[in-house]
Amino acid sequence: MAPVIKLNSGYDMPQVGFGLWKVDNAIAADVVYNAIKAGYRLFDGACDYGNEVECGKGVARAISEGIVKREDLFIVSKLWNTFHDGERVQPIVKKQLADWGVDYFDLYLIHFPVALEYVDPSVRYPPGWHYEGDEIRPSKATIQETWTAMESLVDAGLARSIGISNFQSQLIYDLLRYAKIRPATLQIEHHPYLTQEELLKLAKREGITVTAYSSFGPASFLEFNMQHAVKLQPLMEDDTIKAIAAKYNRPASQVLLRWATQRGLAVIPKSSRQETMVSNLQNTDFDLSEEDIATISGFNRGIRFNQPSNYFPTELLWIFG
Ligand code: NAD
Repeated sequence: MAPVIKLNSGYDMPQVGFGLWKVDNAIAADVVYNAIKAGYRLFDGACDYGNEVECGKGVARAISEGIVKREDLFIVSKLWNTFHDGERVQPIVKKQLADWGVDYFDLYLIHFPVALEYVDPSVRYPPGWHYEGDEIRPSKATIQETWTAMESLVDAGLARSIGISNFQSQLIYDLLRYAKIRPATLQIEHHPYLTQEELLKLAKREGITVTAYSSFGPASFLEFNMQHAVKLQPLMEDDTIKAIAAKYNRPASQVLLRWATQRGLAVIPKSSRQETMVSNLQNTDFDLSEEDIATISGFNRGIRFNQPSNYFPTELLWIFG
């Protein structure tokens, strides 16, 4: 079982969880069920992943077989961009809870700091980035309006903790001025090619726990044929990383995850293979030396993969500009 991190909301969050992005609908229920059997307790879902119904089935099966109780699990989901308008937040969270078959989320995040025009779930779900065709249509909701609605989720018992994802420092400073409930977590892209030093310092100072996504760097983005991902040395095949891994007699994947967890972050890798699932979960039972952590941090090149302009041509959306 993974160690836990105490959030500023008072709840404990497992430091190692299971990511649900790109987990095929056809296998998602089995993958979640097997991950629970392997010892995972945190699941990182989202409206946008389009598999919350199937993931919920995996949870239901594990609960019905007595493997876990609901309170043993830490279920995370996210608010998609088209639901930022204040009055849209509670209804979509209720739909997402129904999809999962649970009555509260342990943590609910704003997925991206960008508000897009509402799309009715009966028209298209998940709605994706485009309104119609290749049109990106903004909504007028501010982050303050959205955050206030997120706070109402806690008051209504629909989410125990709330947080943010893909936010950078400037917007966090602003949000902290008006937040009645501070974000418990910040979920960001974080790997040796993007070490996010200043953002981590800000989060630490403000008592916000950081969750790293895409911990293996380019590995997650090869399937999108992103040229800068394809051209980079895969981290798990890098000679320096491999030498560090050999020193500890661990796979390179565990070294990459341990580098993040020793920096105090939570991680949420995913794998549908049982052996890899177990290996990823076991990244916290050894320690890298300070020197090795510094060597891995030295890979930083400020390279980001997960941004809209890398997925589709857009002249309208530069979230990380
Ligand atoms: P990942 O870390 O889960 O995996 C990247 C690739 O590495 C996958 O192909 C995976 O199968 C493979 N892999 C996993 N473990 C391995 C191992 N031990 N050895 C070899 N290969 C291995 O990357 P990800 O999906 O980008 O991120 C993880 C999770 O983070 C997602 O599932 C999702 O929950 C979350 N996420 C959030 C956002 C966001 O905008 N908030 C964006 C991306 C991902």
